[in-house]
Amino acid sequence: MTVLKNAALAAEIGKVAEVAGYLWQKGWAERNGGNITVNVTDAVDDEIRALPAISEPRPVGKRLPRLEGCWFYCKGTGRRMRDLARDPMSNGSLIRILPDCAHYEIVADKPVAPTSELPSHLAVHDWLLAKGSPYRASLHTHPIELVALTHSRKWMEKDAATKMLWSMIPETRAFCPRGLGMVPYLLPSSVELAEATIRTLEEDYDVVMWEKHGVFAVEEDIISAFDQVDVLNKAAQIYIAARGMGFEPEGMSEAQMRELGEAFHLPK
Ligand SMILES: [Zn+2]
Repeated sequence: MTVLKNAALAAEIGKVAEVAGYLWQKGWAERNGGNITVNVTDAVDDEIRALPAISEPRPVGKRLPRLEGCWFYCKGTGRRMRDLARDPMSNGSLIRILPDCAHYEIVADKPVAPTSELPSHLAVHDWLLAKGSPYRASLHTHPIELVALTHSRKWMEKDAATKMLWSMIPETRAFCPRGLGMVPYLLPSSVELAEATIRTLEEDYDVVMWEKHGVFAVEEDIISAFDQVDVLNKAAQIYIAARGMGFEPEGMSEAQMRELGEAFHLPK
């Protein structure tokens, strides 16, 4: 039996599989690179809720009080996005947070241990719920051109990359209206990286860069999180294409950017 017979859950997990395929096709998900977690609590019905655990309770690493009663679909640790795209319930699992808000158990379909980044992802979900955000999905991936940008001090300056990327093509500003936050290099999987990520998201970004590593994005669902990263990376590719043609791209003017902001009622 699979929890995918629940149509609402199957829809959310189907979106994860779709995005996992895109990440692989784009070359952003080498080996087991990247993680996805989605808060699927709203899709869980009484039948799913009654299912027994298939793992012992495991510690989350910290107490996350807003996650009481929450359910997540998580990519499995060491699993490949390209495999998840084909078979999401063998390369990821459905977990529930226990009432102590500090442990979880795997409920379905197989005892696939969640991503090693689970504590940082869950800390972000806890923070999203605390501020009443409608965002339910978080994505970490390695988009080539955006990661390349972070190897330059110039583009790590606050909002330097945002302004450049927005100015490459109007849609970037319209569809990534909060821009790109920057997190200086920190050890992968560390508590410090998780805390710095939340601090930067808190400055009002949906997408943040981890220097010399990758992006972390949050959105209402995983398709929208992917779209924001895709749009930003496209702008980086246009910049690089112009540089490859031998010139510094002009970029849209400040006046054109302002006009766009007013026309589309953009937040920044
Ligand atoms: Zn990574």
